[in-house]
Amino acid sequence: KKLLYYLSEAALSGRDMIYDQNYRHNLYIRRTLEAIMRSYQGERTGLDWEAFLVFTKRVWFSNGIHHHYSSKKIEPGFSGDYLRELIKHTDATSLPLLDGQSVEELTAKVQRILFDPGLDAKRVNQDASGDLVADSANNYYEGLTQAEVEAFYAQANDPSDATPISYGLNSKLIKKNGQIQERIWKVGGMYSQAIEQVVGWLEKAVTVAENDKQKKALELLIAFYRTGQLRVFDNYSIAWVQDVDSDVDVINGFIEVYGDAMGYRGAFESVVSIRDPIATKRIATIGDNAQWFEDRSPIHSEHKKKEVTGISAKVISVVMESGDSSPSTPIGINLPNANWIRATKGSKSVSLGNIVRAHNEASKTSGLLEEFAFTQEEVALSRKWASLALDLEVDMHEVIGHASGQINPGVGTPKETLKAYGSTLEEARADLVALYYMMDLKLVELGLMPGLDVGRVAYDGFLKNGLLVQLLRLDLGDDIEEAHMRNRQLIAKWVMERAAGVAELKKRDGKTFVVIHDYAKLRGLFGQLLREIQRIKSEGDYEAGKALVENYGVKVDPEIHREVLERVKALNIASYSGFINPKLIPIRDANGGIMDVKIEYPQDFTRQHLEYSESHSFLPTYN
Ligand code: ZN
Repeated sequence: KKLLYYLSEAALSGRDMIYDQNYRHNLYIRRTLEAIMRSYQGERTGLDWEAFLVFTKRVWFSNGIHHHYSSKKIEPGFSGDYLRELIKHTDATSLPLLDGQSVEELTAKVQRILFDPGLDAKRVNQDASGDLVADSANNYYEGLTQAEVEAFYAQANDPSDATPISYGLNSKLIKKNGQIQERIWKVGGMYSQAIEQVVGWLEKAVTVAENDKQKKALELLIAFYRTGQLRVFDNYSIAWVQDVDSDVDVINGFIEVYGDAMGYRGAFESVVSIRDPIATKRIATIGDNAQWFEDRSPIHSEHKKKEVTGISAKVISVVMESGDSSPSTPIGINLPNANWIRATKGSKSVSLGNIVRAHNEASKTSGLLEEFAFTQEEVALSRKWASLALDLEVDMHEVIGHASGQINPGVGTPKETLKAYGSTLEEARADLVALYYMMDLKLVELGLMPGLDVGRVAYDGFLKNGLLVQLLRLDLGDDIEEAHMRNRQLIAKWVMERAAGVAELKKRDGKTFVVIHDYAKLRGLFGQLLREIQRIKSEGDYEAGKALVENYGVKVDPEIHREVLERVKALNIASYSGFINPKLIPIRDANGGIMDVKIEYPQDFTRQHLEYSESHSFLPTYN
């Protein structure tokens, strides 16, 4: 329990970093909104105030003013004048004023950023026709263009290095007076105030580590935060992968690179967890048979791994999340990201069991299933098996999906070869492995599912989501930006184009439904696409990858989109769900030592975030 407490504190201590990484104005905007919230709690009413509350909650939900998924700037539902009014009546000493800055100056600055739709409109620009660096509002680069960043890393990259460090993972790149410099995120560097706190808690965690392997990994993580050296981070990642015995586990660092259109810089995140022993048996069965799946995969034999190494899979219960993984959370995680470590030391695959379960429970009452299922039978089967189907899909996506296949000798990493399309194609590849095996009797033989009905439910669900349901997350006229959403539509549209006699879109009472006639043939189509996407990755075929994503994954059919939004509007459900963290409270003895740790489950999202900004906010407002 002490270990969980220390690691949770380390997680929350880094929380400010994600705000600043996402956008350099996020911290003072967040602190302005929080100051207003504190001075008006419970006193104001009315539509404008409601809109202000919604907006502030959305900023907390997205770790900044850009939507966490689409990365578009969130539109406030209130006016700039109303904001001015609120700030005017807020205690000035609680506002984040810089030096001699006046309240009016702060107001004007916040107004401009929130209400000028053209200013810093997108956190991550993935549109390859623009400039991936200059057109992105995130705080990973300053004064640089895409071409300059590409040239910088072309120079740094040594293609003959078999164990390359993850260049750029822990720094901001700045061009000043014609010189390009890196500001490293470390103790004594950028974000030092937050990182020192993280390190302090990690040092306490070391003293109560479960075993030597865990201790070693935590010590290396501390060394990485102290030195900022990426070689140390690799050593840490290896030690972390090799610790498969500990019940408590933690991800803490600059991890996923989706927030950088160039795919270099890692967003701060932390996930503290404990092992779920029963569900782990299920995922371990898949991992134990990884070679069986690899050998029978429909990909070209030269793209198969001859020996699938070190797939360590488990199901965890999340205890605390922070940064990039909170409040909106992943449901599966496969790390580390460094390709050479994955290939030579293996990777850890985890499914976030209590999160998946919570999503499933919530979806049972949403009405989405009834609205989009073509028959009553489909509803009944889905109610029975959707939960297991999703579990198995997530397990296989992580354990035998991302881990499968190999890149041809001499071909660069997907980041170099497939660039901005790499993430979408990688997610598609992992999904397709899972889909392909969802209709395989091997899963029945292994005791993982009772019959192929579970696979049929998975196929129904996947196509419905990829073609229809997921569109509820987009505004009319938007393209799909997010890698996972792009990949789902890519797969669904690609197979539908080839699915004559296999599956079709049917209209009934003006509503569109997906109807599958031949599940076995559909499986074959998933296999064909998997083979092609693996080829693209293995050969580094940028043009083919680009064509797939652009032709199938990006554009939305406006008529279908309008229809979906209307159908969903009637159900009155939220497009995204996120989580409130539990609260770990240490019980201390007379000398201040921790005797026990109590867990509480708060219910108030607003209160949690106001508390965090008091207790776990360490970065200066103007960084
Ligand atoms: Zn994935």
